[in-house]
Amino acid sequence: MTANGNNPVPQPPGIRDMLTRLISLPSVSSASPAWDQSNEAVVQTLAEWLRPLGFKTELMPVPDSPGKFNLIATLGSGPGGLVLSGHTDTVPYDDKRWQSDPFTLTERDDRWYGLGTCDMKGFFALAIDAMRDLAGQPLKQPLILLATADEESSMNGARALAEAGRPKGRYAVIGEPTGLKPIRMHKGIMMERLVFQGQSGHSSNPALGRNALEGMHEAIGELLALRRQWQGRFQNPNFEVQVPTLNLGCIHGGDNPNRICGRCELHFDLRPLPGMQMDELRQAILDRLQPLARQRELQLEFSPLFDGVPPFETAADAELVRVCESLTGHRAEAVAFATEAPWLQQLGLETLVMGPGSIDQAHQPDEYLALSQVAPTVTVLRKLIQRFCLE
Ligand SMILES: [Zn+2]
Repeated sequence: MTANGNNPVPQPPGIRDMLTRLISLPSVSSASPAWDQSNEAVVQTLAEWLRPLGFKTELMPVPDSPGKFNLIATLGSGPGGLVLSGHTDTVPYDDKRWQSDPFTLTERDDRWYGLGTCDMKGFFALAIDAMRDLAGQPLKQPLILLATADEESSMNGARALAEAGRPKGRYAVIGEPTGLKPIRMHKGIMMERLVFQGQSGHSSNPALGRNALEGMHEAIGELLALRRQWQGRFQNPNFEVQVPTLNLGCIHGGDNPNRICGRCELHFDLRPLPGMQMDELRQAILDRLQPLARQRELQLEFSPLFDGVPPFETAADAELVRVCESLTGHRAEAVAFATEAPWLQQLGLETLVMGPGSIDQAHQPDEYLALSQVAPTVTVLRKLIQRFCLE
């Protein structure tokens, strides 16, 4: 309805048509340039649907990432308000392993199949459907639809938002596939690279070189000792794996049994629990490795393979947690995957992860969204909007 009641507001298409369109717009993000694609068509399409409902739409280019945009679409004004957030990119795909075309929404067995149906273009179609009656309604608090770039690859979209200090709001729900269960915590992800550079030489005389592989052997001992120490100090019963983990992933060094190993490189992964600071963990590692490198006269390089995702936790008694628990009948839990939640939290938003579909179908051939998730999700989103923007 418009204010004068004469001209009907142009409505967004139905849920199925919206999702068909979003799935048809490829928006893979990947660290591999051969796969990486722009997400511009997806954010433009979302903006086109939201503008007639009265949303102000802003496309924010992600710095140093040509073709990548975050969309901030705002209805109403003022401080506070509710952010419904999702990422517009998908992971790469192997269409030979799909039963139907990943970019054609296909219905069978009461499911919608397509790349991004559950992770997570489906959420946008359902969120916009939940907003369609809002045109012309006076909001007490603003409603913001946030659509980010590059969540699946670098999280640079969310990083750029945190950097820019936008959007402002009070609450945020990220619609990642959780089977519509509220999620209030996840671990962080760090991937680190350690290199020792020594000096190669003939194996017959150790004095001819400085052995990087022996240095690495000692360094691994230090890392495992740190792991024991962290696992003794930090535990969280909300997680299936209740302790922080450190996984030695791959190692490359040396070339020949009869040559002193001149260079050795180790990659490892760390999953910190909420409450652990990534900077402090890196410093603790350095504090152990630097003396060892000095003593062995090895050059030490220690650097992140990517910038990492901090751990995330919202308090069990936070208002958004309580509201979502009572709307869904599920207690808020922890998950084993990471999201953009830590950056929304940095913006001062009370943040929760909750959306349709199952993470089991994400990043898989024949990804789908069960039709049984559709109506309950729209209902829950409508109630959230009612509670946080209209009352
Ligand atoms: Zn996702």
